[in-house]
This record gives sequence, structure tokens and C-alpha cells, in this order.
Amino acid sequence: MKTSKIWLSSPHMGGNEQVFVQEAFDTNWVAPLGPHVNGLEDDLEIYLGNDTHVGALSTGTAAIHLGLILLGVKAGDEVICQSMTFSASANPILYLGATPVFVDSEELTWNICPASLEEAITDRIANGKKPKAIIAVHLYGVPYQIEKIKAISIQYGIPILEDSAEALGSTYKGQKCGTFGDIGVLSFNGNKIITTSGGGAIVTKTKAMKDKAIFFATQSRDDAPHYEHSEIGYNYRMSNIAAGIGRGQMQVLDKHVQLRIAMHQFYVDLFKGIEGVTVFTAPNINYIPNYWLTALLIDPIVTNGIDREQLRLAFQQDNIESRPLWKPMHLQPVFEKYPYYGGTVAESLFENGLCLPSGSNLTDHDRERIKAVVNALFSTTTSATSREIAVKGNIESKNVLSQ
Ligand SMILES: *Cc1c(COP(=O)(O)O)cnc(C)c1O
Repeated sequence: MKTSKIWLSSPHMGGNEQVFVQEAFDTNWVAPLGPHVNGLEDDLEIYLGNDTHVGALSTGTAAIHLGLILLGVKAGDEVICQSMTFSASANPILYLGATPVFVDSEELTWNICPASLEEAITDRIANGKKPKAIIAVHLYGVPYQIEKIKAISIQYGIPILEDSAEALGSTYKGQKCGTFGDIGVLSFNGNKIITTSGGGAIVTKTKAMKDKAIFFATQSRDDAPHYEHSEIGYNYRMSNIAAGIGRGQMQVLDKHVQLRIAMHQFYVDLFKGIEGVTVFTAPNINYIPNYWLTALLIDPIVTNGIDREQLRLAFQQDNIESRPLWKPMHLQPVFEKYPYYGGTVAESLFENGLCLPSGSNLTDHDRERIKAVVNALFSTTTSATSREIAVKGNIESKNVLSQ
């Protein structure tokens, strides 16, 4: 390809990351502990507010795993999980030998549907087993229906594990995502809104909970001069090098959130006149998403047959990455045998949705390229030719795959 690739979401360094990393080298804190680890935790606690406590870990997935352990999930238990999400939300349920119970999304926030959640809880209780936890996700940085999900959690006495991996910097009624659940989870993977190259964090309500998470994350070492263990441990702590990158990224987090919001506005304007395409936007002003990824829905009946796959292939032709939404877990080969509650909301979002390049580091030139692809595909006068190009793209991509 001659043109450079436009990614969905790529790392965007602010400049001071290397200063922190250099300091780690200069002081020889090259270990899964050190001043930057504590510093990043302090930065995050100040950023999130609400008397939260933060433990820096090796990944967001590790944070979900430890979060479920802290909520008392054990082998044979059931854990409710939003079906439309990244598999990392659900995998730790299986690490623990527990059973996932998947729940559909609603159309306002694309997140866990309150009605289906309540149906799942009452049915599992009627079957003799009360679920141990609810994993609710803020997909693409848009908060789930906070009050309704919380009310159900309180009514049935089932704690919430808030998967905020995609929502650092999002707020609901002014409160930061990551602080709503009984336990919160953040991710700093390479494609997230800030990155430590790979990393995550657990957010807890008490210092004791945070200390317990770090205890588990550092092989559950009891207090003794030798290595003494009375519980199973994990090696899940963040390294001081990764935390140094994170400290630099925290300095630019708010700026990067604003740039992602600007990318969302760019897409709102771009698709404004195109019937049958809806850019996914928060339902009201209580929700301020970080718009980690901007996504859209296409109704091919209204667009004369142009569907999300044709748009994806048209982007691909110009070396622009876009991606279907998360395929719901209850439709995944590895999870389809587990119980599912709800209808076809998540499924139809998956069928018709596409995530668009949303990085805070995209340039005007990148936006021009994106605009040109969209305008060529959707212009009514040339729509027949555009469809030919889209079909050609399809054939070419098949050729690439078969090489
Ligand atoms: C990225 C992500 C995770 C996992 O985070 P890692 O740091 O990659 O382990 C979990 N849940 C969701 C919704 C995510 O997008």
C-alpha cells in the first residue's frame, strides 16, 4: 500500500513518557514495583476522585479476574455478564470455574439491558442459584444506565463489577466512570484511550480491598521473612517501566478525551446528510462519553443496499481500519452453551454496526481520506460505481486472505 495506514485507535504519546521511563532506568527501578507504580495509582485516585483506591496491574483482564475473586466468586457460582463486550469481560468467569450468564443490551447506551438483567436474576434465583456478581460494561466509552443497573444490584444484593476498560475519562452526571461499581476496572492496553503498552488497574472503595488485590497480584505472600503462602496467588502487578509510561499519559488524558470527542463530532457532521446511517451518540447530557471509539449503525434498506461490510471494505481499499462491533458473547463458539437472557438487540447492533478510526492522533489529512471514502460510497449519483468498487474490494481482500 502506498498510503499510510489509518488505525482504529493507536498509541498516542504525549512527550513526557520517556522522561519517566528514563528516571526508572536511572534509579534502577526496573521491576513490577517502584515509585512510578505508586505515582500512577496516586494520579488515578486524584483523577477519579470519589474516595477511590487504585491498584495498578499488568492488564485489565487481570483486574477483572481479581475483582471477581474479591467479590467472592468461586467454582460453581454464576456471574451475570453483558453479552455485547470484548471477551476479556467474560473470560475470567471461566478462569474461576464459574458459569457466565449472558444478558442482552438496550438501544440507548448499547450496554446491559435493565429489563433483561432483572429477568435473568429472578430466573436464576427461581432455578435455585443467586448470581454472585454483575459485570456491566461502558462500551466504546458510553456509560451504561447507571441508576437503573445500580437499583437492581441493590434490590437483589448482587454487587457490580464495572468494566470501565473503554471508559477512562467518561462521566455520568459529572462522576467519572470506573467509580460506579462495587469494583471498577481500567485498561491501558495499546489501543485504549491511554496506554502503558499493556496494563490495567482495579478500582476499589476501601484501602483494605486495594491491599487485598495487590496481595493476590503479588503471589499472595503472607507476612513472614521466608515465602509463606496460605492463599493462591497471581503475578499480576504492573511494572515500574509501564507505570512510567502511564504517568506521562495521565498528563495528556484530558486533552486526548477532547480530541476523541472532536473525532466523534467530525463523524456526526460527515454523516449528517446520509440517510440510513446513525452515528452512535450518548442519549442525553448526563452522559459525557470519552468516545474512545466512534461507532455507527447502517440500515441497508434506507441506504439502497450499502451495508456495514461494504463501508468496511471501502475503507480497507484505502488502507483505513474499521471494525464491526463486538460480537456478542452468547453467539461466540466458546460461550454459546451458557445461558442467555434477552432478545436480539445486541445481535442486530453487531449485524449493522461499525467502529470507525477514532484516535486522538489522527490528522486533517487522515480525516480528508476518511471523508473521501464515505462521500464516494454514499454519493447518490455514483452509488452504482461505488458499489462496484466495494465489491472489487471484497474480491481483493479474499485474494489476500487466500495467498
Ligand atoms: C480492553 C478491554 C478489556 C481488557 O483489558 P486488557 O488490558 O486488554 O486486558 C476488558 N474489557 C473491555 C470491555 C475491554 O475493551
